[in-house]
Amino acid sequence: MKINPKNNPNIEYISRDEIRGIQSGRLIDTVSYVYRNSAFYRRYYIENGISPEDIKSLDDLNKLPFITRDHLANLSDEMVCVPRSEWIDICPTSGTTGQSIYFPMTKNDLILFARICARGAYSLGIDRNDTVQVMLTSDNLLQPTKIMTYMFQFEIGSLALRVGPVGTERQVKLMRDLKPDVLFGISTYLQSLGRSLDKYEFDPKKELDLKLLISTGSTIYHSRWSPTALHREVSEIWGAPYYSILGSTELNTGFWECPARNGHHVHQDYFIAEIIDPDTGKTLSPGERGELVMTAMGREAMPLVRYRTGDITSLEIDECPCGRKNPRIMAIVGRRDQMLKIKGTLAFPLQVEEAVLSVQGIKAHFIEVVNDENGQAQLNITIAPDPDLENAPEEVTERVKSRTLITPRVSLDTRESIESVWYSEKRVKPRKFRDKRKKVS
Ligand SMILES: [Zn+2]
Repeated sequence: MKINPKNNPNIEYISRDEIRGIQSGRLIDTVSYVYRNSAFYRRYYIENGISPEDIKSLDDLNKLPFITRDHLANLSDEMVCVPRSEWIDICPTSGTTGQSIYFPMTKNDLILFARICARGAYSLGIDRNDTVQVMLTSDNLLQPTKIMTYMFQFEIGSLALRVGPVGTERQVKLMRDLKPDVLFGISTYLQSLGRSLDKYEFDPKKELDLKLLISTGSTIYHSRWSPTALHREVSEIWGAPYYSILGSTELNTGFWECPARNGHHVHQDYFIAEIIDPDTGKTLSPGERGELVMTAMGREAMPLVRYRTGDITSLEIDECPCGRKNPRIMAIVGRRDQMLKIKGTLAFPLQVEEAVLSVQGIKAHFIEVVNDENGQAQLNITIAPDPDLENAPEEVTERVKSRTLITPRVSLDTRESIESVWYSEKRVKPRKFRDKRKKVS
């Protein structure tokens, strides 16, 4: 694999001891900085008996208490470390859960975002000669879209066309006129756009010479990092390799997949990634699955120290075949609050979905957890199979049972009806899972 040293900072190739030294220094500085500048952190650390002097190296990380999404939702004003006159932009969360939270950025935060995010783009070979057609939505994902576009334009020097998810006709016209090298959009949009190209007699494999496709916002890998059906379809339609970016508004960054297809690389000089047991908070070993905890350092407006992301995944720390030594975040199998505890068995919606999609010919599906007539959790799955697929409900029941040990109730519906549920409540991303149980805790 060709690495351009000019475009790939040495920081991604240095030894584990060297990076620990850098992380230790930045952790000490970050804890001291938030203690001095954020009313929330100062109070929280005093309540937990922590003083900045207690943090002398990375080994002291687990002395620091976690912060949660509840802290962000209720106390984000007190978490901000700079006065409003220093803000130049804000990123709202994508709004998939709960209320909106706004993340302010200073000018230096924006520059830092671009600098470290560009490493992922460089690793995939995107450079100043490329034209990137940015098709991300312009609702509350607008700000991350804008700063990602800024990264392409100012850090890499690519021509970035901020098109948004406009109609097919306009996208096709732009593609014919400007011949983009890279398409950047959410996975379901790249899929639906791709499916509608025939109408315009546009074959991207003949008319374009796409280098690659990138997307953020949806999982395009199964839990063992094998591509989903959507991943394969999008790559096939557009005739180009397709890569994933794990974007996070809270962490104000994107972690990029590399050409080796081996997880999302963490920019470890500015982020410390940990995996913890979601119930006990105990740190888990590389490869073990648990909740992702991130510390975002080097930021002015809103650093985060030991933030529980709620995402369930695992970390790999062995050297990637691409040569970079930073850790990699593997597929997000679910959110902590989506963990299904059904009759004593633990599973995630993604595992159920993988089992459903392992049956060839399921055109659409919807997964739901409800309380049954006895108040017990019950897994319901609605499927739209191909008409010639006999015994689809029995087949799906068997696959789900063998992968999760949970016995679902499976019913049939039409593809249109299921898809209308996905996009109900004006959702941008399809929602294929719903937990309708009354929350006990
Ligand atoms: Zn790699």
